[in-house]
Amino acid sequence: MGQYRMIDGLTYELTRKKVKNLNLRVRWDGTLGVSAPKRVPLREIDRFVASKREWILKARSRLTGENPEEDRDKYTDEACLAFFQPVSDRIYPLFREICPEKPQLRVRWMKSRWGVCHVGKNRITLNKRLMDQPLEALEYVVLHEYVHFLHPNHQSGFHQMMASLMPDYKARRKLLR
Ligand SMILES: [Zn+2]
Repeated sequence: MGQYRMIDGLTYELTRKKVKNLNLRVRWDGTLGVSAPKRVPLREIDRFVASKREWILKARSRLTGENPEEDRDKYTDEACLAFFQPVSDRIYPLFREICPEKPQLRVRWMKSRWGVCHVGKNRITLNKRLMDQPLEALEYVVLHEYVHFLHPNHQSGFHQMMASLMPDYKARRKLLR
């Protein structure tokens, strides 16, 4: 299985293969697959995917008949919070000892991240684009940001905690696009 990365709002699955060049595919379900030779650095692969942005969006809109760039102002902050807050409220009790005060939620349209955890400010910022993602994927992102209050990086402790609280978190992450 590949590694999931995100650049400019594009999530892609990276597989290292014995290939000569970087290959990018928009699959039938709109997800992105990239195969790359072992020696190519991640930064270069990200740049490659970002440079194909227009092409990817066109290929996707042909598949779905939608243009995600037009969605930017589709939802007000209030609408997003009304949808996201109950998810955060359900997850919060698991973190009461780590965050004695319930973290504040904010929403923003973001290009390169689904969520941000501001540990020092006791705040989580969520991408408005989550409004168009499955609930399972939204729950994954919210839990992911909560886990950052304890594990700031994506190291083994982070993944262990994700797996213990949400055993299917990898499958849920796959739903994000
Ligand atoms: Zn993270």
